[in-house]
Amino acid sequence: SSQQNQNNTIPRYVRVNTLKTNLEDVIDYLKREGFSYQGKASRLEDLDRLSGKMFLCDLHLKDLLVFCGKTDFHEHFLYKAGHIILQDKASCLPAFLLNPPPGSHVIDACAAPGNKTSHLAATMNNKGKLFAFDLDAKRLSTMSTLLLRAGVTCHQLANQDFLTVDPQSSEYKEVKYILLDPSCSGSGMVCLQDESSGAPSDPERLQALAAFQLRCLNHALQFPRLEQLVYSTCSIHAQENEDVVTFCLQQNPEFRLVHLLPEWPERGHEPLTHCLRASTVMTRTHGFFVALLERRPLPSEEIF
Ligand code: SAM
Repeated sequence: SSQQNQNNTIPRYVRVNTLKTNLEDVIDYLKREGFSYQGKASRLEDLDRLSGKMFLCDLHLKDLLVFCGKTDFHEHFLYKAGHIILQDKASCLPAFLLNPPPGSHVIDACAAPGNKTSHLAATMNNKGKLFAFDLDAKRLSTMSTLLLRAGVTCHQLANQDFLTVDPQSSEYKEVKYILLDPSCSGSGMVCLQDESSGAPSDPERLQALAAFQLRCLNHALQFPRLEQLVYSTCSIHAQENEDVVTFCLQQNPEFRLVHLLPEWPERGHEPLTHCLRASTVMTRTHGFFVALLERRPLPSEEIF
């Protein structure tokens, strides 16, 4: 029908901020406002049937609601009060998969503007320590506003190059989790893909980005108590994704990949099928890549 979205459009995703509210309360609030709750999506095509004020719970991620792509919440009370975060589904994957428990010490290495930081704080229930770094002072000040609105209190922001953060410092001795979402080509962002400019795949730029991403990843693995690291980009280029992870694992054999969400339809390029990819066609999101690395257990810890 004319109301159906096409397979190349992205719905509006709304993450419920559990630091301020919960899924049931947000659903009730929206129903009272005339939105029509359709239950939990059971397949991808359910998202294409959204129109007007209909909404669904997401197929894979808890605390994520899905609306028709035209829905705008920027002036909505729930957004202004920090009860909901407007964040693409793919960009919710890293914090959801890392899932640091309350009380843990976590680093967000390239954090601004902070949507993933606020998601990490929600999984930690604001308990523990969340060290967030970014090189860009202007983006960090946007981030302070965002975290304040979201009710995040367990963070410590630093305007610092992550590559200069000392893994041996006693401040980070309890850090077991790192989220690394470094600068990338942005080639997965649908608005950029539509541009016919050749810039996003400029080979020299891609090579420089991939070298930077690998340096960040290698640096992150130096934190002595690190157990799990999630690496993500909004790039569709293997050079910034599978290639970076492959080189890193060759250089750090004490780490291995975790097999992510078996039910997720789009996988990393062979042989890195433990990793996830996302795209408009397969997952109704922007283009994205996620890998989860974990430290191998010591031989004495292996179960026989
Ligand atoms: N994780 C963020 C979020 O979900 O809102 C988005 C991060 S964005 C993809 C990459 C960020 O890395 C930019 O804000 C950029 O300023 C920052 N950055 C680039 N080089 C950096 C470095 N060497 N150390 C720390 N941050 C860096």
